[in-house]
Amino acid sequence: MCAHRADNDNDNRVNRTTAEAAGQQRCSRPERSEGPAVAVTVALFALFLLAVPLRAQDPVTQLDLRPAPDSALIARIVAEGTTHSRARETFATLLDVIGPRLTGSPALRRANDWTAAQMRAAGADSAWLEPWSLSRSWTRGRAVVRMLAPQERVLVAASVGWTPGTNGPARGDVVWVDTRTPAEFDAKFAGRLRGAWVMVTPAIPVANPEAPLDPPARAKFDSTLRAHYASIAARPGDLVGLERLRRLMSEGVAGVLVDGEKPNHLLVMRGSPANPLLPQVMLAHESYAQVQRLLARGEKVRIEADIANTLLEQPAPQWNTVAEIRGSEHPDEVVLLGAHLDSWDLGTGATDNGAGVVAVMEAARILAATGVRPKRTIRFVLFSGEEQGLLGSSAYARDHASALPHIQAAMMLDNGTGRITGVPLQGRNDLSLLWRRMLDVIPSQGPFTIEARTKGGSDHLPFLNAGVPAYLFIQDWRGYDHTYHSQDDVLDYTWPGDVAQAATVMAAAAWQLANLPVFIPRGTP
Ligand SMILES: [Zn+2]
Repeated sequence: MCAHRADNDNDNRVNRTTAEAAGQQRCSRPERSEGPAVAVTVALFALFLLAVPLRAQDPVTQLDLRPAPDSALIARIVAEGTTHSRARETFATLLDVIGPRLTGSPALRRANDWTAAQMRAAGADSAWLEPWSLSRSWTRGRAVVRMLAPQERVLVAASVGWTPGTNGPARGDVVWVDTRTPAEFDAKFAGRLRGAWVMVTPAIPVANPEAPLDPPARAKFDSTLRAHYASIAARPGDLVGLERLRRLMSEGVAGVLVDGEKPNHLLVMRGSPANPLLPQVMLAHESYAQVQRLLARGEKVRIEADIANTLLEQPAPQWNTVAEIRGSEHPDEVVLLGAHLDSWDLGTGATDNGAGVVAVMEAARILAATGVRPKRTIRFVLFSGEEQGLLGSSAYARDHASALPHIQAAMMLDNGTGRITGVPLQGRNDLSLLWRRMLDVIPSQGPFTIEARTKGGSDHLPFLNAGVPAYLFIQDWRGYDHTYHSQDDVLDYTWPGDVAQAATVMAAAAWQLANLPVFIPRGTP
């Protein structure tokens, strides 16, 4: 997820199938019931209330939680994480050898096995795979998309994920479906779209990143962008999303053309098993905008797409990779570090989310290398199915429901390859002081901001929704807009040094939370 539209604009994200909703999978480890620890926590809670002002916010009563001071060990964590980092070589194998890790693909299973073996070899007490079920799997096949009229040329294009192929070349005129309501649609298009390639959304304004806009031009561009979003915002009664796709399908269209939404012919890939079985072809933004301009001036536009994808209409097992360093005093209380292992398949899933995977694996290696056992268990989870709607983390939360009350905190990395620059408090503004104290012990990795805001769109959400203090770190952007979900999401654009810093910060925070004298009282989700 990013402050950008990236990860959370996929409106079919939440539509999980009955199979997934039925929680098919079972976790392999026994779960704990309600223990005495909670009673103790409540008593301490009453003792330590303090009123501390928060940046740009009303003063919030802070929990006066004090991490156990352990400067020598923190120094070892920093040294291990920064001077002995293995981020670069881990990236090289994950991206250049294993490559794109689309949910449901053999490459993802290979990555599950490899990451488990790596964390075991790095000294985690144990590592295993936890299964969950994907309703249908999909494999991208060859795709050739050409403009036939008014000019002939091959277009940069790719199928939206989980959409079918065209069963050979599908040639059709392009039609701009500009109606909003079902009634308007019926009046203007019913019975007139057979074999057509349709466009339903205006091209998004895109600026050339190589030509930075001066302030007046930036202001003009931003207002155009706002107008674009306002124009596509659904109104009550509008025919949108899956319903519209199903309606178009019933009209026998060849398929839907969608905007790649990035400059430089890059595509923002998306899609999920909830997609209706209708070809959807993502054109590079520059071609999508050209087609729209041609239609607007009354030119006839004709497209041919020849796409061969594979859809398997039966549930397929998928896996989350899990590893842990068992706690010495409260082994059933858990601090969780996570990132999604799956990726889109146009690049090699480098910044989304190879960087998060490498950081979590490095954090495991760093903590194991200290050779000191934490009081609570520190667990490392590499989720799958994130890009299709947080499927793996939702399955994890469902299958470990009875254990969630015993998770001290869950921390995710999923905003690219940049260094950690801060923490969004996700509604637990009463924990700002704790975060300040935990980050103050690693000044060499800072500076850090602690912000009273919430971030969505990634694997922390199933935990947050269950009342667990759950975070998605704020990171340096490092051109994430350029890489995420696109053909350019490759090793060339990773920053191993930044990922080493992120791993170090995650390890230091996890250590302090695992050794915190008290279990953090639950807030109200
Ligand atoms: Zn991601």
